Amino acid sequence: MSGCEHVSCGSKEKVWLPYVFRGRERGLRPHTYCVKCGLVKRSSGDRPRDIGYYINVVGTLATEQRVTQVQIRLIVQALERAGIDDSYGLDRYQQERLFIDVVMRHTKVSEEIIRKYL
Ligand SMILES: [Zn+2]
Repeated sequence: MSGCEHVSCGSKEKVWLPYVFRGRERGLRPHTYCVKCGLVKRSSGDRPRDIGYYINVVGTLATEQRVTQVQIRLIVQALERAGIDDSYGLDRYQQERLFIDVVMRHTKVSEEIIRKYL
């Protein structure tokens, strides 16, 4: 998904899909999608953050929660692979969910603690 320039479909081509806000479905709404890769455009009002924000959080976790340099590198790679910086498709809620999952996969830091840094 990363690397696509994203070209939005026309307004008549929109697809009706569940509208999700903060992880909860709120009925169906027309969604724009990318005609090149098929990714559906983010529909939530929560603006996504750029990847630098999440990398800074990883850095803070490293100094305060005993996360090693090797773990940091694995986390940053996993975030990039998962396309956390693709603001076309991800809203902030989805980014945070992804970030927490990745950090928990590579460290012993709990979700509760990770959330304090977001
Ligand atoms: Zn695309």
